[in-house]
Amino acid sequence: MNNDLHPSPLRRAWLYFWRSLQLKCPVCGVSPLFCPVSQVRSVTDWFQTLSGCPRCNYLYDPEPGYFLLAFWMFDYSFAGLFGIGLFLTLYHYFQLSMLQVLWVTLIAVTIFALLIVRHCKAFFLAMDHFFFRHSKGS
Ligand SMILES: [Zn+2]
Repeated sequence: MNNDLHPSPLRRAWLYFWRSLQLKCPVCGVSPLFCPVSQVRSVTDWFQTLSGCPRCNYLYDPEPGYFLLAFWMFDYSFAGLFGIGLFLTLYHYFQLSMLQVLWVTLIAVTIFALLIVRHCKAFFLAMDHFFFRHSKGS
């Protein structure tokens, strides 16, 4: 059996994870999931995935609400952990008032959450493809 055609689950998981870090299609690993940063003209361009992969026809957003779990599970969790870490760091190591620490943390967490949206969606898409392999175009 050829290991390249039938990689182990761990190898497949790393492959999909790596592709999600690169914001590439989880199936072929070539096509981008999002509009390139240089071509972003609106907030929608930043947040929305492209409709699907032109190379392998894999649908990135198969139904309305598909990415809700990506927000609840990844974006809010990572932003929350980042916020807790930042809050504790600022509170413990810097001479700031509680109000200053709260404002800096609140602003930083909001910016962080918006910046990681693409990777959270890509990671969710890769995880979905890993656990529930969808056929092309479905
Ligand atoms: Zn593809």
